[in-house]
Amino acid sequence: MKKLIAGNWKMNGSLAANESLLHALAEGLADEAASEIAICVPAVYLAQVQSLKKTVARLAPLGVGAQDVSAQLEGAYTGEISARMLLDMGCRYVIVGHSERRQYHAETDVLVAEKTRAALGVGITPIVCVGETLMEREAGYTEEVVKRQLAAVVHANGHCISEIVVAYEPVWAIGTGKTPSPEDAQSVHAVLRAQLKAATDQFSRVRILYGGSMNATNASALLAQPDIDGGLIGGASLKSVDFLKIIAAAQV
Ligand code: PEP
Repeated sequence: MKKLIAGNWKMNGSLAANESLLHALAEGLADEAASEIAICVPAVYLAQVQSLKKTVARLAPLGVGAQDVSAQLEGAYTGEISARMLLDMGCRYVIVGHSERRQYHAETDVLVAEKTRAALGVGITPIVCVGETLMEREAGYTEEVVKRQLAAVVHANGHCISEIVVAYEPVWAIGTGKTPSPEDAQSVHAVLRAQLKAATDQFSRVRILYGGSMNATNASALLAQPDIDGGLIGGASLKSVDFLKIIAAAQV
């Protein structure tokens, strides 16, 4: 299974900045990437990214994703964006349950599971984020928290969960420059792998990404762990040089 390196631009970018970032990425992307590469961009820029992909040949293999999706199919939900709309815009991926959405938009495990179902329903791969806060970690609840978060998604999606990507993102590592040791991250990934194994025969199809301050320096050691199948990268995905180094680290 190819590793997946996915950028999460969060609420960053502008027409001009996106264009120069994508041109810089195109310069550095190899013709035959050994890993899959994606960027999850603010929804208002999906059209721009798709049109650049059409004009800049080296961007063709880049998967495009969104950062959130409505759990509803359509209708009177002002401000929401449906999975079908994301599909219409050529999205291959959508991040669901990012800790910033759980924290600032009060997204519950149940809502995240419903959003996962909405994405799967139209054939978009949801990148389902799970992860513990610092307080939960210090209290020894890491396993319990990530298992509870993933269990809600498994419960609502049954055998379809073989089509998801999981991202283990310890909340205390996001945007802080702190990371667990590769071995500590691996042990949580192993717990998640075992949970997926118990839920579906197809568990080996599910990639489990690590996210949280992954950068050009620490990527190799994290990506070398047996159950780390790629990365979800925030800050470093906004700098072409750093993002390309992480992509290179995933090739070996
Ligand atoms: C993220 O937002 O998913 C993330 C991992 O951010 P960062 O890499 O900046 O910690």
